[in-house]
Amino acid sequence: MEDNYLREMEGKQVHDPFYHRNHNNNNNKKISCSPPPRRQEIVMGPVIVGAGPSGLATAACLKEKGIPSVILERTSCIASLWKHRTYDRLCLHLPKQFCELPGLPFPAHYPEYPTRAQFVDYLESYVSKFGLRPRFDEAVESAEYDEDAGMWRVATAANAEYLCRWLVVATGENAEAAVPEIEGIGEFVGEVKHSSLYKCGEEYKGKKVLVVGCGNSGMEVCLDLANFGACPSLVVRDTVHVLPREMLGKSTFGLSMWLMKWLPIRLVDRLLLFGSWFALGDTSRFGLGRPSLGPLELKTVHGKTPVLDVGTLAKIRSGQIQVLPGIERVRRHTVEFVDDRIEKFDAILLATGYKSNVPSWLKEGEMFSEKNGFPRRPFPHTWKGEFGLYAAGFAKRGLMGAAMDAQKIAQDIEKCWFIDTEPKLKTNPNNSMPFTRSPISFFPKTTTSQ
Ligand SMILES: Cc1cc2nc3c(=O)[nH]c(=O)nc-3n(C[C@H](O)[C@H](O)[C@H](O)COP(=O)(O)OP(=O)(O)OC[C@H]3O[C@@H](n4cnc5c(N)ncnc54)[C@H](O)[C@@H]3O)c2cc1C
Repeated sequence: MEDNYLREMEGKQVHDPFYHRNHNNNNNKKISCSPPPRRQEIVMGPVIVGAGPSGLATAACLKEKGIPSVILERTSCIASLWKHRTYDRLCLHLPKQFCELPGLPFPAHYPEYPTRAQFVDYLESYVSKFGLRPRFDEAVESAEYDEDAGMWRVATAANAEYLCRWLVVATGENAEAAVPEIEGIGEFVGEVKHSSLYKCGEEYKGKKVLVVGCGNSGMEVCLDLANFGACPSLVVRDTVHVLPREMLGKSTFGLSMWLMKWLPIRLVDRLLLFGSWFALGDTSRFGLGRPSLGPLELKTVHGKTPVLDVGTLAKIRSGQIQVLPGIERVRRHTVEFVDDRIEKFDAILLATGYKSNVPSWLKEGEMFSEKNGFPRRPFPHTWKGEFGLYAAGFAKRGLMGAAMDAQKIAQDIEKCWFIDTEPKLKTNPNNSMPFTRSPISFFPKTTTSQ
């Protein structure tokens, strides 16, 4: 069967313009600057794009079921977001029991909110435990479903092309920094950088720093700056729900999850807002007005995460952090705000969030929106598309969502993986999967061509 398949793939290459071009170029010495032919590899299991928590969890769940996979990662390490694009003081925002990946609990000695370094160590142990070996420096440049072959063609910057029946998109909701257009920002003579490049407030000691964006990152960066003796100001353009990280000695998140089991979402929102008012007071007095929808409803309807306060509000109250309205424009040394205030700053930090990069490489118009790179269907239907396409970590539910996606994806793939293989394969100790069925036969062709 495998021979049949490979013969059929050879047949397809005759019609493949990319292969044809490279093949011809290879034989035509006159064209000296042509790229070398792409290395082609048929992957027996799924290709997973991204070696962050979602990709690793999916590979681990698959491996537990005896299904091998190939993880392609653009950087040279696992969890690049956590290792290289987060600040030093970062701890998990949610208690550890809500951030575990399938198959490995956090070590018992870890605190309730593990530090960034502890979380990275945990992910390294995860990779060791499940024997995962992501292929590093393999940025996926394009992935397209080949209807004739019934397979995905995944091309990487390392000049390789992988062919697979299942493709798992695990490139993250935070793949690229989102940088808004701000009039005049190019004129500013001081430093301008995105919060993903911010490490620590030490270098800003004594400086006036404007932090744009009041999500969890913006609020925490301000706190860090204030702790290191800088003079931070926070731009708050919209309304925002700030909640204490803990209420009644319990994590606000855990409490909400528990209450949601018994009560309707709106009632839980009311209780949360009452608890927040009790713990933090009226946040609108400090320029942090609340949206009309409650925090959980807002998260469910618009995916907007409430801010869990870890001490920033106290610094705002004490005047160590100044809250400012939206920016009108930036000049060489100053920033003008919509209320006509003009202030001088030494640096501007953009805590303006992240965006998905899926539209830049996935050639597919059904499952993912080309506009924002997120699955079009709402939760809980974000994880599965057509023709063996899956999304892990795109449910706007953090690490808990990633863990759930990983398990669902592995279960779904398992259903057709063992469809007509011998039961003994499940206990194959080497995980080297004999391929007894042509992958082409798994997905019916929707169109006939060539
Ligand atoms: C500052 C900050 C704090 C956070 N804190 C929490 C928290 O406490 N709790 C929580 O649940 N969530 C938190 N999150 C959300 C967090 O991003 C996710 O929970 C988690 O990292 C998602 O994992 P992921 O694997 O889906 O995405 P990522 O961690 O972003 O991993 C995606 C991987 O894909 C790779 N990649 C991207 N494009 C390509 C490509 N074209 N080819 C190959 N590889 C590619 C990236 O290099 C990356 O390694 C936080 C996010 C940020 C930014």
